[in-house]
Amino acid sequence: MSARIVIPPRSGVAFGMRKGEILTVFDPMGCQVADLLAFCADDVREVISNGRTFDYEETIKLTSGNRLWSNRSRVLLNIIADSVGCHDFLLTPCSEATFQHFYPDQPIHRGCFGNLAEALAPFGVEPDAIPTAFNLFMNVPVSAETGRLEVLPPTSKAGDFIKLQAEQDCIIGLTACSAYASNGGSFKPIEYRIDVS
Ligand SMILES: [Zn+2]
Repeated sequence: MSARIVIPPRSGVAFGMRKGEILTVFDPMGCQVADLLAFCADDVREVISNGRTFDYEETIKLTSGNRLWSNRSRVLLNIIADSVGCHDFLLTPCSEATFQHFYPDQPIHRGCFGNLAEALAPFGVEPDAIPTAFNLFMNVPVSAETGRLEVLPPTSKAGDFIKLQAEQDCIIGLTACSAYASNGGSFKPIEYRIDVS
């Protein structure tokens, strides 16, 4: 079993993952979101798509047994275990612009978007190619009646995790989210591990 790698608060990383390998993302302290992106390693124009995923999985509530599909209608990742069952695939990564919009009185931060753009640049991913992330542990209830969204603190507790198995060779982007509301008002680290199945 490989060692856990720490993503410090309000930062992000990118790394390659081979088909069949298993990525486990941990919320070590609880109540912390991690934005996840997956690109096809052979051609980074192929990337996870929330629209394709909702269409094929027939739900917006994704958990164990669900698959994350690409814009080319191929499965990139399978969710094989999930101790939380509460994630979001509706909202885009937090960014300078979203800080200006939602937190005009707080210092501007480049957010998950800026962290992902820097980490993914060496893999040939342009900022404009960054799609809606699969936001691990993010709690975004949707009113069935009105469709209104809320961003509530994550329900994840210290040590909670999600496991995703690569269906293709992938480039992964992963953050410890920087936004206030998404993380219950404080910024914690995220940890991850990659294991061969
Ligand atoms: Zn974020």
